Amino acid sequence: MSEEANPFDSLQSQIDDVAEYVDVGDDVIERLKHPERVLETNLTVERDDGSLERFTAFRSQFNGDRGPYKGGIRYHPGVTCDEVKALSGWMTYKTAIVDIPLGGGKGGIVVDPTEYSESELERLTRAFAKELAPMIGVDRDVPAPDVNTGQREMNWIKDTYETIENTTEPGVITGKALDSGGSEGRVEATGRSTVIAAREAFDYLGGDISDATVAVQGYGNAGWISAKLVEELGATVVAVSDSSGGIYNEDGLDARDVKAFKNETGSVSEYSEADEALTNDELLSLDVDLLIPAALENAVDAELAEDVEADVISEAANGPLTPGADEVLAEKDCITVPDILANAGGVTVSYFEWVQNRQRFYWSEKRVNEELEAIIVDAFDALTDAYEEHDLETFRQAAYVVSVQRVADAFEEAGTFP
Ligand code: GLU
Repeated sequence: MSEEANPFDSLQSQIDDVAEYVDVGDDVIERLKHPERVLETNLTVERDDGSLERFTAFRSQFNGDRGPYKGGIRYHPGVTCDEVKALSGWMTYKTAIVDIPLGGGKGGIVVDPTEYSESELERLTRAFAKELAPMIGVDRDVPAPDVNTGQREMNWIKDTYETIENTTEPGVITGKALDSGGSEGRVEATGRSTVIAAREAFDYLGGDISDATVAVQGYGNAGWISAKLVEELGATVVAVSDSSGGIYNEDGLDARDVKAFKNETGSVSEYSEADEALTNDELLSLDVDLLIPAALENAVDAELAEDVEADVISEAANGPLTPGADEVLAEKDCITVPDILANAGGVTVSYFEWVQNRQRFYWSEKRVNEELEAIIVDAFDALTDAYEEHDLETFRQAAYVVSVQRVADAFEEAGTFP
C-alpha cells in the first residue's frame, strides 16, 4: 500500500474535479469544500472499575443549505478530524444527489468499542449526546448510525436528548429500533441501494446483474445485506471478507449461511464451505463482474487499482477508492457507482424515518422499499444524464456535477446573511 490518502483531501479534489462543469463561481466552490463548523470535544467517562478515561470526539456540520445537517456517528480507533470532515462533506453531496431536503454532517468517537463493556459504551454515548445536545435537533442536525454504531446507540442518544430537553422528539436521530420510533427497512437500506444502483449500472451498460459474479469486501451491515440482496437477484457471490480476511468459492457462497457463521464465530475466515482463503487485497483484485467495497475508506489506492479486474464497482462504503484509484480505473473502463449514490439508501430511509417521526404516522416495509427504489433510480438517471451531457470520464464526476450544482443553487437562492 502506498501512503494513505487523507479523506478530506480526497473530498476536496472530487469537488475541484467537477468545478468547471458546475454553473457557479470559484468563491462558492471554495465554500462547498469546507465544513461550516466542527466540534471537537473531550469526553470523560467512568470505566466499570471506577477509573476515568478520556475520549476525543468530533461532529462536523458541513453544509445546511438544503436542510438540517444529516449523517452518522462512527466509533473507531482510526477516527480523525479530517476523516469526519470528509465524511460530512460526502453526506452533503449524498443527500443532494438523491434530492432529499437535508444537508450533510458526520460525527465520530476515537474508540475501539470491542474493548469496552455495554455499560461503558452507554456512558460514553450519553456523554457524547450531552455535548451534542445544544447543536442537534429535529430541524438542526440529525445524527444516525455509521461504522460500529446501530440502533442501541441511537436509542441512547434519543433518550439523553429527550431527557435534557424535557420533550419527546424521536426525529432528532434516525436509525432507531422500531419500538423507539425507527423505520421499517432502515437496517437493510444501505445494502439495498448498493444493489439497486449496481443493477441500474448493469442495465445501462447492456448487461444483466443476475448473470454477475460478485465479490464483497466487508461483512458488516452494508456488506452482508448487499451480498444477500444481490444473491436474491440471481447473481453469484463468489467471495466475501471482513477484517480477518476473505473466503472464495467459485460456485458461490450462501450469504445468509456465511452471516450465521460470522455471528457464531466473530469472522467469516474459517467458513467451511469456502474453497480458498484470500487476503482483502486479493479479494479486491478478483476477476468478477461486480465488486462491492463495504468496509472503510482507502480500500483501493492507485497501486491496487492496477490489479482490479471487476467491470463494475458499487461503493457500499464511504470513500473506498482514492482519487488516484479512480483515475486508474477510468482508464481501464471499470465503471464505479460512487458511494454518494450507491450507499445513499441509508440516509434516504433515515429521511423517511424522520418524516414518519414528524407525522407520528408509520409506513409499511413495502412502502419504504418502493419509495427508496424510486429515489435511487431517479438519482441514477440524473447521474447518467450528466455523464452523457458533459461527456465525463467517471460516474463519480457525474454525481458531483449534479449534487454540487444543487447545493450551490440552494446557497445562491438563499443569499448571504449578514
Ligand atoms: N452513516 C450512513 C451514511 O454514511 C447513514 C447516514 C444517515 O442515515 O444519516 O450514509
